[in-house]
Amino acid sequence: MHPSFLSPPEPRFVPEGEHPLWDEALAVVNRDVAATLPEQRPLCLIAYPGWEQDEAERIYVALANGDSHGNSLGPGTSAAQALLAVAEAAQDTITECLWQAWPVCTLHGLGMHMAEDAGRASWRCAGTSRPSDPGHVRAAIGELDTIHRPRRPNRKRRKDRKPR
Ligand SMILES: [Zn+2]
Repeated sequence: MHPSFLSPPEPRFVPEGEHPLWDEALAVVNRDVAATLPEQRPLCLIAYPGWEQDEAERIYVALANGDSHGNSLGPGTSAAQALLAVAEAAQDTITECLWQAWPVCTLHGLGMHMAEDAGRASWRCAGTSRPSDPGHVRAAIGELDTIHRPRRPNRKRRKDRKPR
């Protein structure tokens, strides 16, 4: 059914320096990739030509081999927005192309989601249904190699609480 003239467009690898805002964001996200997926080479940016002649090319976050999944990056307007967009795109690409949740909370073995924590883009784990395992922020994006203990701000520490 597919007309044969619709051959898939050829992507190109985007060299560093073309999109400094995304380069910077990708460097931050790649720190998390290196910390959690040491066998992976750093993610990169690839561009596909627009469908129409005057349409801007679309930029995706891809594995080092060029595989990508999910939405293209929208126009980045600030470093904070770029970081969120790149982190989300990286999550989509890794999850779909490598068939694994990413990033995973090492305390609970659960896939994490982006959240803002004290003004910083962070990875948040939903925790488990057990009251002793509430949702928590694991680390700021780019800092997954640092150890953060779950914060439990709504709970006063009781002494001699029995470990479960
Ligand atoms: Zn967790």
